[in-house]
Amino acid sequence: MSSTPLTAGTHRVPGKWPNANGRFGEFGGRFVPETLMGPVEQLERAYEQARCDANFQAELKRLLKDFAGRPTPLYHARRLSARLGGAQIFLKREDLLHTGAHKINNCLGQGLLAQRMGKARLIAETGAGQHGVATATVAALLGLECCVYMGEEDMTRQAPNVFRMRLLGAQVIPVSSGSKTLKDAINEGMRDWVTNVGNTHYLMGSVLGPHPYPMMVRDFHRVIGQEARGQVLELAGRLPDYLFACVGGGSNSIGLFYDFIPDREVKMVGVEAGGRSLRLGDHAARFAGGKPGVLHGTYTYVLQNEDGLIAATHSISAGLDYPAVGPEHALLHQSGRVEYTQASDAEALEAARELSRTEGIIPALESAHALAEVIRRASTLSREAIILVNLSGRGDKDLGIFQSAGIL
Ligand SMILES: *Cc1c(COP(=O)(O)O)cnc(C)c1O
Repeated sequence: MSSTPLTAGTHRVPGKWPNANGRFGEFGGRFVPETLMGPVEQLERAYEQARCDANFQAELKRLLKDFAGRPTPLYHARRLSARLGGAQIFLKREDLLHTGAHKINNCLGQGLLAQRMGKARLIAETGAGQHGVATATVAALLGLECCVYMGEEDMTRQAPNVFRMRLLGAQVIPVSSGSKTLKDAINEGMRDWVTNVGNTHYLMGSVLGPHPYPMMVRDFHRVIGQEARGQVLELAGRLPDYLFACVGGGSNSIGLFYDFIPDREVKMVGVEAGGRSLRLGDHAARFAGGKPGVLHGTYTYVLQNEDGLIAATHSISAGLDYPAVGPEHALLHQSGRVEYTQASDAEALEAARELSRTEGIIPALESAHALAEVIRRASTLSREAIILVNLSGRGDKDLGIFQSAGIL
């Protein structure tokens, strides 16, 4: 049984990671050029002060509540549970947040931090545009200038989000280098940061990048697990048997998992993008085909070829389509505390259809990967078992993909 108090919002520290060097075991760290050392050290100091400052925390809490819509409900999906004939399934409704996904938690945190550091300008990378939209939203809210780097390829694929960002007052800068996608946008953003660090904060979108980003972004998403813990205790009277979440960079999953890590009886499953097949280039399942290496400033599991070149990736959901995973996940994988598995494009589409029809909730394709794994397992569990799934976002952004996939 759990050795920690069964209440929500206790400020216990579930893990000792990262250490002072930003390491999660052997993973993480700070692999950046000399020119970026100053900026990341300045950020680390500012964050250390902010996280202990009651005014900062109170302002963040206020915006999470009044602007973003926290707390999000924990919803017992009774029809889905009955239909699968096994465990009781509870959905953590991050899809109900402003801008449609969990990303706003982190953007509000880093936006307030930038303001506190006296930085008048935010820059961000974006793949599908979801993180760009959340960053542009927070920039507008706080009166900061905003500049979003986006691969040219992605700008064509995600035109509505480009328009949203511009409507919110952000400048969207096309990136035409490399594969013209997310990883190239991060490279360009980093270059901008080095040049303009005096007035600019780089707002990283997931638990990636050099220390302190993986720790800081995790901390801003911990609210998901803290709320869920209190809610499941209230609704079911005990801790859940399983947690499920999809893993792109790994922010919504670590946000849910983190406060349950000391509860050994709670099993955790992270679901990566299995794509078209498990052949290199056809998926984004780092723990199925990757090996340790450095990408964008951190040492972690990376999809790479035999020469160590970053591999091409594929997923039907842009939010999961990235060749590296957050370093804390690499440690949780190594220690066995979290089990990592994959769902394919086809399984995610089918899971999205199932949830839409059974519960009246159209999930984001990313979240549908976690649901696909739940659909696979629920019937093997008893009717008393409790499963908690992070519904990281809503499916509005994916309607075009649903339509062209012909899932009706
Ligand atoms: C961006 C995104 C993800 C993937 O990012 P993580 O950092 O792994 O959480 C998952 N779900 C949704 C809805 C997203 O927008």
